[in-house]
Amino acid sequence: MTAVPPIEVPCPQCAVPADAESLRCPSCREDLAALVRLRYAGRIDYNEALEHVRAGEDAAARVLLQRAVAQEPGLRPALDLLAEITARVGTPTG
Ligand SMILES: [Zn+2]
Repeated sequence: MTAVPPIEVPCPQCAVPADAESLRCPSCREDLAALVRLRYAGRIDYNEALEHVRAGEDAAARVLLQRAVAQEPGLRPALDLLAEITARVGTPTG
């Protein structure tokens, strides 16, 4: 299990990646923090899910992973981990 690497969030207007520190566009100074949070939401949930898995909390991890893949359907590590947990604990009924 590995944490996913950071991703670049480009400014919608300039297509320049947001500055990692200020979360602003280096070109037009637009505040891209909300966009970055949105873009990262799935990965934040995934990384949090990893912590739950390490703590043995599969149920909590699965909730976060389901949210992660809803937010970023192509997030492969989250899909893999979700499949792994589902195989381990089974599908809940109801
Ligand atoms: Zn810009």
